[in-house]
Amino acid sequence: MKYQHQPSDSAKQYQRIFSSRSEEELRELAHVKRFMERLSADATFRAKLGEHVKNPSVVTEEYGIDVDPEDLQPMWNTKHTKHRFTDEMSRWPKAQAWDDYLAEMIANRDLIRDSGSTEKTNPRFHAWRERQIRRSASELGVSAEAIVHPVAAYELSQGCSVGCWFCGISAEKFQGNYPYTPENAALWRGVLQVMVDLFGDAAQTGFCYWATDPADNPDYPKFIEDHYRVTGHLPQTTTAAPLKNLDLTRKVMALHEKYCCITQRFSILSTKILDRVYDTFTPEEMMGVELVMQGKDALMSKAKAGRAEERREKLVAAGKEGKISKLQSDHTTIACVSGFLVNMLSGLVQLVAPTRASPRWPLGYRIYAEARFTTVAEFRAAVEDMIDVFMPESVPASEVVSFRHDLEFSALDEGFELQGGGMKYSCNGISYMGRMGRLIHENRMTASDVIGELVSNGEDIFLVGQSLQSLYDNGLLEDDPGREGAASAG
Ligand code: SF4
Repeated sequence: MKYQHQPSDSAKQYQRIFSSRSEEELRELAHVKRFMERLSADATFRAKLGEHVKNPSVVTEEYGIDVDPEDLQPMWNTKHTKHRFTDEMSRWPKAQAWDDYLAEMIANRDLIRDSGSTEKTNPRFHAWRERQIRRSASELGVSAEAIVHPVAAYELSQGCSVGCWFCGISAEKFQGNYPYTPENAALWRGVLQVMVDLFGDAAQTGFCYWATDPADNPDYPKFIEDHYRVTGHLPQTTTAAPLKNLDLTRKVMALHEKYCCITQRFSILSTKILDRVYDTFTPEEMMGVELVMQGKDALMSKAKAGRAEERREKLVAAGKEGKISKLQSDHTTIACVSGFLVNMLSGLVQLVAPTRASPRWPLGYRIYAEARFTTVAEFRAAVEDMIDVFMPESVPASEVVSFRHDLEFSALDEGFELQGGGMKYSCNGISYMGRMGRLIHENRMTASDVIGELVSNGEDIFLVGQSLQSLYDNGLLEDDPGREGAASAG
């Protein structure tokens, strides 16, 4: 029987964002969007608004933005920014309409994270991904909130021709493409079908780039349309080269318009590129395209990972700290997949999950396992093997257990506390909790030894096992494959 796809809740909600608004509302929103983008990307635009506070429309007229900045005062005028997200916003309906739209887009992001659930289709993978999500929440700083943990990313090229200095995953130089030949297309559809067979509709969260750019592969539209046909979802497209091949970009935009599953994204590397994008596409055409501002004026910090971190370290070593952007935050990774990273060209599948970039994992993601494949059957066997080995349902009994190395342990009278990433976990008030915490903190006993020790002191085996499992499920035990005491392998 053929698998019947359900459009994901995220796709349905995404479609509602547009269908619930009239054409005129969407047109207005498209122009407000252009204003907001220019505001976040362009320091000259911001300065000009500051110079013309009394007559700001001269600035939007100069930039060809069909919006009166008076209607958006809380977004840019420091005198009024305090009113944003308050009832006072009713004085500026266009600004309120923008905030409403943004809130819906953020809610959509959360739904995408939920779409990756495989609770029913693959409980072992589900438990593993949930652990990664919980660990990320306290490990990844400000990066955690925006990460939706898709279950797969597919690369359709080797390397990337864009070569951004800040590339958080240090993409290598472009080396070649995976062309859409009949053989490649058959393997591609087979790989997608395996993902659907193993993960059901969660396979819809996959997308087709990583350390690659969609604009490098002229057959990209064919691959993503196959993704739609096999999984029921057109995957997200993010490109840093939207102007490189306009025909390709327009084809991709048309597919997104047709299937309307998820927002498309352009990374904007400079205000010059922003100008050219605005000259090429109308505000209305850009309504389904989120702009990720990466230029030097943009109010966005770069992740401390990959090439951006290498550059920072070099500047510090050369005593040139002044060249490092003042805008720094605890942005620790750009990696987002908790699942399978697949390169179709090299036939490599890796089991990965986001982590804080470090000397051990400089690209901001852990690699739990990897395998090669040349056929659909080999791909399936590799993925199933990774699930078998790395996704036990319960704490592996014979592994040494320890707390995550990034959490600070403190003993309490009747328990313990773990602290990290602005979060605090208290395990307290149960007779054995203090002893259990200390045994785990010592990082020398296996899970079954910890349970045995507590049970020999008269504790209930069921309760002790449940407590240990709860620490595991909440992502508090070490499972970094690069560390001793990692409780991931079965
Ligand atoms: S950030 Fe994206 S576009 Fe830029 S080099 Fe890395 S993979 Fe390529």
